[in-house]
Amino acid sequence: MLPVFALALVFGLLFGISSGFGLPFMTEIVFPKIFADEAEQLSFWLLLGVAAIIPLAFSVRGLSGYLNTYLISLCGIRVLESIRADIFNKFQKLPLAYFHKRASGDLVSRCLADTTAVQHTLTEVANDAIKQPMTLLGAIGYLTYASFQSREVFFLLLCLAIVPICVFPIRAFGKRLLKRSRQTQRQLGGMTGFLSDNLRSAREIRAFNLEERQSENFRSQIRRLLRLQLKVVKYKKALPPVIEVIASFGLAVAFLYAYRSGLDYDTFIPLLMALYLSYEPIKKLGMIQNSLQKGRGALDRLEEILREPVTIRDPENPRVIGRLTGDVAFENVTFAYENVPVLHGIGARLNSRTVCALVGPSGAGKSTFANLIPRFFDPIEGAVKIDGIDIREMRLADLRRNIAIVSQDPILFNDTLFNNILIGRPEATHDDVLRAAQQAHAREFIETFENGFETIVGENATRLSGGQKQRVALARAFLKNAPILILDEATSALDSESEATIKDALARLVENKTVLIIAHRFSTISLAGRILYFEEGRILADGTHSELYQDCAPYRNLYERQKG
Ligand code: ADP
Repeated sequence: MLPVFALALVFGLLFGISSGFGLPFMTEIVFPKIFADEAEQLSFWLLLGVAAIIPLAFSVRGLSGYLNTYLISLCGIRVLESIRADIFNKFQKLPLAYFHKRASGDLVSRCLADTTAVQHTLTEVANDAIKQPMTLLGAIGYLTYASFQSREVFFLLLCLAIVPICVFPIRAFGKRLLKRSRQTQRQLGGMTGFLSDNLRSAREIRAFNLEERQSENFRSQIRRLLRLQLKVVKYKKALPPVIEVIASFGLAVAFLYAYRSGLDYDTFIPLLMALYLSYEPIKKLGMIQNSLQKGRGALDRLEEILREPVTIRDPENPRVIGRLTGDVAFENVTFAYENVPVLHGIGARLNSRTVCALVGPSGAGKSTFANLIPRFFDPIEGAVKIDGIDIREMRLADLRRNIAIVSQDPILFNDTLFNNILIGRPEATHDDVLRAAQQAHAREFIETFENGFETIVGENATRLSGGQKQRVALARAFLKNAPILILDEATSALDSESEATIKDALARLVENKTVLIIAHRFSTISLAGRILYFEEGRILADGTHSELYQDCAPYRNLYERQKG
């Protein structure tokens, strides 16, 4: 990218010299020749030669200007491309807690709208960022040259004395623009969030008669956005005329001085042109500054994401692990979400090939406990070990390859059913996938679809029932065949046929694995040889169902309540 930028710089320099210096210089040479008394005496060829200077100068200026803008845009677009990819990459690595704290709509907006705002800035700036300062330098060069020629140094100083005054409006407008543009991007993020929420909850909105309220809310958000955008336009467009007016004072003074010092026409015209050519870049630079502020508002929001620390990551020197046996141990584990303690000094040992149900009232910490095993979160104290190795010493990919998770509301990607199962183990063969689907009792319903395994599930997999989605998720787990299995029991009731087939599939899936079942209801605990009873972030009891039923009153009460 650096050579392209250097080349752009060279063309920018060429543009600057040909505009700032070349145009006034050309005027100085061409005009006197054409309008002088001896013009009739010029030979035709000389006249043609002199006239040819004009298209020549403009061709050099035009071509170098074009190449400069093109190459700078190229650099800008490449940079933006890598920012977009970096942001997306970062989304893949940020800890889950990051996403719990933020609205997904705002993150979508940052990835799309903010990068687009930065792109607009880059394109606007690319056009002028190098050309204008170079033109200014060229014009100052010409003014210096002219003043040496006619000893009019004072004229040069006089004309440029006005330049520093322009800094004040540029700064003042820039500051306001930055503030407004930050607000605009934030508002845009909020709106994207609102929109995606709205589209996701189409059913609830109709069921609760919220249509009118939603529409009114959206209208007022649009209004707020437009008002902010109008303010951005106000500050952006006010700057050029302000600078022009300031510059016109400089020109007026120059006129007065020229009149008083008796400058002749031939000297004055090129000087005036050079002067105009130095004010023009200042105006444009002011606009660039404005554009930059506008882009900075968006860039800040992107930087926030890029700077966010990736707290859950691979260790420097990871332990090499293959397939783990699956002996899981929690050693004095304490965990808090944003300083709110949720698990308190938990100690537990889950031996391989045991099926363990986590039971307890809602909010007791069962899911959090299970989520520590694949390192979705790290404990703030204590350690989780598998086969005696602290999981923080393993590479995340190695650890997670050893864990299969079936969540209560499985997410299917908008792809074919085949590919949705394949993600369990991407290197699996076609037959492996079919076998896994069979074991999960998913093949039966998949083959009733016209396109079978090639059926596209659609966004949110709305064409599949809850039970069908569960079976696809189980097929993934069968395919993955990991030594540790975490099952988040479905909270929503399945129809009895689905429930029966899923139970049958589950019974086969849990064989020879370390299994944790997060039991929200009691329907799956029959599979479990051992039960951990959670309450307020602590394990209150540990044993078989009949032991707990006998010895642990809260467990017995919860069981009775749900059964009854
Ligand atoms: P359970 O699975 O037993 O219902 P959880 O482990 O989901 O319980 O939750 C334990 C506690 O942690 C609850 O008080 C819950 O409100 C809180 N909690 C769960 N997830 C988060 C989160 N992402 N951010 C903050 N608090 C959370």
